[in-house]
Amino acid sequence: MRRLFDPKNYAKLVDDQYRYFLQMKLACVLLGCTALLMSVLNLFTKNWVMAAATGAFFLISTVNLLLLRHFKRMTTANLLLYEIPVFALCTFFLVTGGAEGFSPYWILIVPTSLMTLLGRKRGVVLVLSIWVMSILLLWTGFGREWLQYDYGPVFCQRFPLVYLVCGLTGYGFETSRYLALKQMYKTQEEIRILSETDRLTGLRNRAWFQERLADVYGVKTDKDKCEALLLMDIDGFKIINDTYGHKTGDKVLVEIAGVLKGTFGDDTLLCRWGGEEFLAYLPTCTAEEAEAKGNEICRRVRDVHTESMDGQPLNVTISVGVIVIPDGAEIAAPDAFIEADKQLYTAKRNGRNQVSMKIEQ
Ligand code: GH3
Ligand code: MG
Ligand code: MG
Repeated sequence: MRRLFDPKNYAKLVDDQYRYFLQMKLACVLLGCTALLMSVLNLFTKNWVMAAATGAFFLISTVNLLLLRHFKRMTTANLLLYEIPVFALCTFFLVTGGAEGFSPYWILIVPTSLMTLLGRKRGVVLVLSIWVMSILLLWTGFGREWLQYDYGPVFCQRFPLVYLVCGLTGYGFETSRYLALKQMYKTQEEIRILSETDRLTGLRNRAWFQERLADVYGVKTDKDKCEALLLMDIDGFKIINDTYGHKTGDKVLVEIAGVLKGTFGDDTLLCRWGGEEFLAYLPTCTAEEAEAKGNEICRRVRDVHTESMDGQPLNVTISVGVIVIPDGAEIAAPDAFIEADKQLYTAKRNGRNQVSMKIEQ
């Protein structure tokens, strides 16, 4: 059991296909062993037909297990090798009654395990098929002719009803599991989005940027092109805050974030690096394109017509530090950022509202 539910695979259990695969393996082992035991027991009690039926079920479970081990996933063959024998065995149990009419009671454990093993769709089909079969055999004159065991009228009346209750219970359990899992996926997605988004501006945050940059930095497809980092910082933002208040500062941040979002393409990684600083990564560009992008940002921010919370017009500008990394320039991402920061400092020192760029050698 511990090998089957290996802790390092716990996360995979939320994937239905993997869970069904594991459960089917477990079912094959459990049912196979039970069938083998019953077969031996029936041999001792000289119930040859029952011994053969349970023996056959053991063999089929073994084949099913071998297939699962070979393909390392559940295939249609596994499903059919489980569904058809289960239906046949249930029919056999009901027709023959097994040992003194006891075998049909085994059928009652089938619905809950079927729903868990096969999922609701396939589970419902098989559970209903067995239910219809039990009604035909126990409730119709035509079916009763097939019965080899003389069940009492109370058993005939109640068995399909008890079986139906078991079926509904199995369906209920599987539905609650399915809904809980769906809700978990939804919550997981919401948490993921929250964890990588800046709440004020709606831009991606620093953590997201760093994680994504690690995946794409240095992976250029076009050898003639460069990569570039653009570090952007709003000019005199403290004065805006001090003069018009933090709410105005926040409003300006949201507006500038909107400008940046509208300026960079989808292939650019863009985030609010922190405070009034934003960072963009262009995966493939020329030095001219990177500089033009920086100038476009400066122009667009300058052209924004914004105002303070009490309606006074504001002039906002931004400075941009650019580091361009040509093919072959070996500079790690954190060092490239330091270079972009140095360029930003140069842009500030040179009077702000401008771009300063360096091409890494
Ligand atoms: P410089 O032109 O040299 O960049 O000057 P600056 O005033 O923009 O830079 P400084 O680093 O002195 O000030 C940045 C200010 O940004 C200080 C901080 O209170 C403010 N700030 C940081 N995050 C937020 C925020 O989320 N909302 C608001 N309203 N202000 C913020
Ligand atoms: Mg700053
Ligand atoms: Mg600033």
